[in-house]
Amino acid sequence: MLRIAVQKSGRLQEKSLALLNECGLGIDGGRNELKALARNFPAEILFLRDDDIPQYIEDGVADLGILGENVVLEKKKQQTVIERLGFAKCRLSIAVPKGIDYAGVEWLQGKKIATSYSRVVQDFLNRNNISAEIHEISGSVEIAPGIGLADAICDIVSTGGTLLSNGLKEVEEVIKSEAVLVANNNLSAEKELLIEKLLFRIKAVNKARNNKYILLNAPNDKLEQIIGVLPGMKSPTVMPLAMEGWSSVHSVLAEEDFWEIIHQLKANGAQGILVIPIEKMIL
Ligand code: ATP
Ligand code: ZN
Repeated sequence: MLRIAVQKSGRLQEKSLALLNECGLGIDGGRNELKALARNFPAEILFLRDDDIPQYIEDGVADLGILGENVVLEKKKQQTVIERLGFAKCRLSIAVPKGIDYAGVEWLQGKKIATSYSRVVQDFLNRNNISAEIHEISGSVEIAPGIGLADAICDIVSTGGTLLSNGLKEVEEVIKSEAVLVANNNLSAEKELLIEKLLFRIKAVNKARNNKYILLNAPNDKLEQIIGVLPGMKSPTVMPLAMEGWSSVHSVLAEEDFWEIIHQLKANGAQGILVIPIEKMIL
C-alpha cells in the first residue's frame, strides 16, 4: 500500500487529485477528511498542509507527496524529486518598492528582506556574495516594506498583480517552481514497484496533455509535402477519402509546435483540419 500526501486545501489540491484520478486511482471527496482510500490502486491519500509534506516523507509516514518545488527547496529534507508535474507554475522573486532605483543585486547588500522562504533566499544571497538580513514571516509578506518592516521581500509571483497593488516591483527571479512528485529515499521493493506503475501512468497522462491528435484532408498531389510537415508517433496514418484525389491524414502534434505546424499545413493545401485532445498516450 502506497501512502501519497496531497495538499489538504489550496492551490495544489484540485490538480493533484485530478492527476491521480486520471491515473486510475479513483479517489473521491476527502476534502474534509484526513485520509482517503483509492478504489482501484493499493494507495491511501493523506491530506496535509503542503509545508508539512516534506517532513512526513522524510519520516516515512508518507511514501510519496505532491507539492510545490519551492517548498521542497525550502524544507531541504531527505527525499527525492522523481517527476515534474507541470502545474502550479510560479516563481519566487525579490521585489522592492516601485520608487527604488534598483541597479542590480548589490542593492540588496546590508538590506532587510522579508520572506517565508528564508533558506531559498539565503542560498540566493550566498550565490551572489551578498549579505543581507532575512526576516522570516509566515504570511502577507508583500506589506512588509510599506509598514517599515523590510526594504525588500521575496515571495511567490505568478502574474505580478499582487506586487503592483502593494506598490512593489519585481527585480530578481530567485527560483522557478512547479508541482513535483517527491518520494521517500528508503522504500521497500514492493513500494518501488507500485511507484513505477504510478509513474508510468503519470507520464502517459502528462504526455497526452502535451499532445494533440490532428485530422486533415489533403489533395493527393500535395500529400508528400503535408506528410513532411507532420511528426506523428511513428508516421502519419493516410486513408483515401470517398472523394477522388483526396486523402485523410491523421497524426499527433506536440502542443508547443502546434500553431507553427498548422500554418505550414494550410500553406501546403491541407483542408478541414480537426484537432482533438488525447486522453492517454503510451509509447
Ligand atoms: P497550506 O495551507 O497547505 O500551507 P499555502 O497557503 O502554503 O497552503 P497555496 O497558496 O495553496 O499554499 O500554494 C501552494 C503552492 O502552489 C505553492 O507552494 C506554490 O508552489 C504554488 N503557488 C502558489 N501561488 C501560486 C500562483 N499564484 N500561481 C501558481 N502557483 C502558485
Ligand atoms: Zn503552505
